[in-house]
Amino acid sequence: MLFEKITLIDGNYEEKRDMYLETEGNRIVYIGTERPEGYTGETYDGRNKVALPGFYNIHCHIPDTLLRGYGEGLPLHRWLTEKMFPFEAKLTEEDVYWSSMLGACELIRSGAASFNDMFYKLEWIERAVRDSGLKANLSFGVSALPGLGSYREYAAYAETEALRRRLAEAGDDRVRADVGLHAEYTSHEGLMRDVADYAREAGLRVHLHLSETRKEHEECKTRHNGLTPAALFERVGLFDVPAIAAHCVWIEGEDFDILRDKGVTVAHNPSSNMKLGSGFAPVKKMLEAGIRVGIGTDGAASNNNLNMLEEVTLASMIGKGITGDPTFLGPRQLLELSCRNGALAQGRTDCGALEVGSRADIVVYDLDKPHLQPVYEALPNLFYAADASDICLNMIDGEVVYRDGVLTRIDEEKVMAEARSRSARILSEL
Ligand SMILES: [Zn+2]
Repeated sequence: MLFEKITLIDGNYEEKRDMYLETEGNRIVYIGTERPEGYTGETYDGRNKVALPGFYNIHCHIPDTLLRGYGEGLPLHRWLTEKMFPFEAKLTEEDVYWSSMLGACELIRSGAASFNDMFYKLEWIERAVRDSGLKANLSFGVSALPGLGSYREYAAYAETEALRRRLAEAGDDRVRADVGLHAEYTSHEGLMRDVADYAREAGLRVHLHLSETRKEHEECKTRHNGLTPAALFERVGLFDVPAIAAHCVWIEGEDFDILRDKGVTVAHNPSSNMKLGSGFAPVKKMLEAGIRVGIGTDGAASNNNLNMLEEVTLASMIGKGITGDPTFLGPRQLLELSCRNGALAQGRTDCGALEVGSRADIVVYDLDKPHLQPVYEALPNLFYAADASDICLNMIDGEVVYRDGVLTRIDEEKVMAEARSRSARILSEL
């Protein structure tokens, strides 16, 4: 496809107007001010429009879309044990597929190209990812269970191995397998070491929750001789492979050095942290320490949506508000966090920027709206004034998966009908 006369933010975060951008297969093959000579394929009128790279949502639990708005207003522990866990236990394989499809509709409509997920029944999430046109790194976040010994006795191991076999057969990188560990407080040292060994031997990335709440952080120190969750994870080897640590609201002291030195990417989830009353992650301190930070929505059970554009805007507003620094997390930095850093955290080094040779993950915003005029600079308008409904096209790996209100691969009416009937069935079973 050839985007003509479009405004775009290039790989150096420079805003360029009246540009031509050509894609071929799953890559960007040309960006320039001149129309590529001899081009005869499909064209896209980019006037009054802006192209950005697609978002990389690096912390999600996509099947939790079925729990959106369920059990609201309870304290965290009661919400988890009385509402979340019993509901999730009722999810069948097909429930996981359809709730993932529901989440996929939302991710695509709000400009995501890819996401990191932590859940179970990975085969059914994988099917939804492939059917929707998204990309994803999938993990099964293992929690310790009584009566089970090594990691290899867990469903998490079997499912991750099965996913790896299917991915080797598929022969593409649309879906990738990561190793998930739910959190310190749902695990024990033996299991953590097992998971770390497996990740290292298999050459997989790790995805885990870290210091989300003050209670979790402080109780870990009590349980483990003063070690914080970050220090403990480092000691057992979980950070010997590239890792994503979600939340990191309560990290302190040497935790910052550990995360930087080990190359851990922090997934910042401002909506979830505020809604659950967990606190405000020290993002400025992380960035000053040299830690790579990306952005995630977390699941719809706590957010309550998977809207990356909203999450990015919120990250900026909160960052400025709590630091008292209006220059902090400006539009270019936000773009880096939500696109490039996310892609790198997934191990997708050729994604996350509009550059020749990069994967064609392109999201187009329509500026021809009263709330987006005038345009001095496009990027601030997108992050501070636009909403997801201003997105008019989402191309992932060179394929248009959304255009002008229509998802090209998904029957949204069917997905919503399935979500309604399945949520009603589960409610009747509880
Ligand atoms: Zn989470």
